[in-house]
Amino acid sequence: MKQHNTEALRQQDAAHHLHPFSDMQSLNQQGARVITHADGIYLWDSEGNKIIDGMAGLWCVNIGYGRKDLPEVAKKQMEELAYYNTFFKTTHPAVVELSTLLNEVAPQGFSHVFYTNSGSESVDTMMRMVRRYWDVQGKPQKKTLIGRWNGYHGSTIGGASLGGMTYMHEQGDLPIPGVVHVEQPWWYKHGKDMTPDEFGLQAARWVEEKILEIGADKVAAFVGEPIQGAGGVIIPPATYWPEVERICRKYDVLLVADEVICGFGRTGEWFGHQTLGFRPDIFTTAKGLSSGYLPIGAVFVGDRVAEGLLAGGDFNHGFTYSGHPVAAAVAQANVRALRDEGIVERVKNETGPYMQKRWRETFGNFAHVDDIRGVGLIQAFTLVKDRSKRELFPDWGEMGMKCRDIFFRNNLIMRACGDHIVSAPPLVISKEEIDKMLDVAARCVETFE
Ligand code: PLP
Repeated sequence: MKQHNTEALRQQDAAHHLHPFSDMQSLNQQGARVITHADGIYLWDSEGNKIIDGMAGLWCVNIGYGRKDLPEVAKKQMEELAYYNTFFKTTHPAVVELSTLLNEVAPQGFSHVFYTNSGSESVDTMMRMVRRYWDVQGKPQKKTLIGRWNGYHGSTIGGASLGGMTYMHEQGDLPIPGVVHVEQPWWYKHGKDMTPDEFGLQAARWVEEKILEIGADKVAAFVGEPIQGAGGVIIPPATYWPEVERICRKYDVLLVADEVICGFGRTGEWFGHQTLGFRPDIFTTAKGLSSGYLPIGAVFVGDRVAEGLLAGGDFNHGFTYSGHPVAAAVAQANVRALRDEGIVERVKNETGPYMQKRWRETFGNFAHVDDIRGVGLIQAFTLVKDRSKRELFPDWGEMGMKCRDIFFRNNLIMRACGDHIVSAPPLVISKEEIDKMLDVAARCVETFE
């Protein structure tokens, strides 16, 4: 294995590299952790530490690190056709084969996909697409998109606007006009004095109220992650999504699921909306589509919207690398492996249920841990001041960051989203590895308490 000079890498990194979502001042004082290689669910840093990746990178390495087949596919495709575009009525075999394969794993009625390079681009594509759809329908006034507070839809101006992260809105005058938000369906905080099912209906009513406030004739779409990821793994009560779907149908508002995290097996079905029991008109994906081996995203377009777009002729939108041949070939190999090696099925029947059981057993008895939750291989708990009153800590996020740092020092990566501690490991994690990961996590939380 290649040797690295950690100090030199840190200094050069600090001198020349602006990191995303990082406090650069403190990063430059401490120096970044240098990750050099990876295998399965493990990462190694330049100092030789073996780290359990309880986050699959950024919720994306569904298939696990170190696969040998994906680089081979990439090499072969790069030699054959490294690049050509899909603009102006051209195509190539890799992207045609991927589209056909995605049609096989998608629910019925999603015959078309539009390619992007990231989740943010998928979200922006979807925002332009729904507005274009209503234009073609002769309803150009239907332009407003409804997102949710604490939702995350990426970092582009469109995605960051649609997301409900106020710390992102504060930087750069967001949201853009035509994007509004409703409260998130987090029962623990917003549903005091109600059962989860009652609260699910209440939270759906907020969507209806917003539609009525704006006027249904002006609302293009409601957009939500089936389970909010970066917002802290907020799993809505079972009543929420079916009721939101009913409301969207009633007012002829398109329903969009942002599946960038939930897609490709994370929740135990291929897509999160299948687990959560609703049917969107469009869903956005990226991450698990290639398990992060190369950047690629796809917007799955339901037949009603696709027919509308096709009737409209040109959709003046696309990226130089939409349907990039090498990314498309790698995504094919990844999706086939997720399907043919039974990885998605195992999350549903085996590792997912096992993780939920062990997650509850592991964290259930800590005084400052509550709202323990999970579906498939995405789970969380919340650090709270007083469990009996469902009272959160006053400085939201401070405890979470401390806890995350203890994990980090113990070579375990889980993430703090405010005071929610979340985990989304590679989908290939074994039961033994789940036990190992949770043993480390429990020891860390013990020192914290
Ligand atoms: N949508 C959701 C639900 C996400 O979780 C993310 C990223 O975490 C994005 C969109 C943006 O994806 P990307 O970072 O690939 O642009």
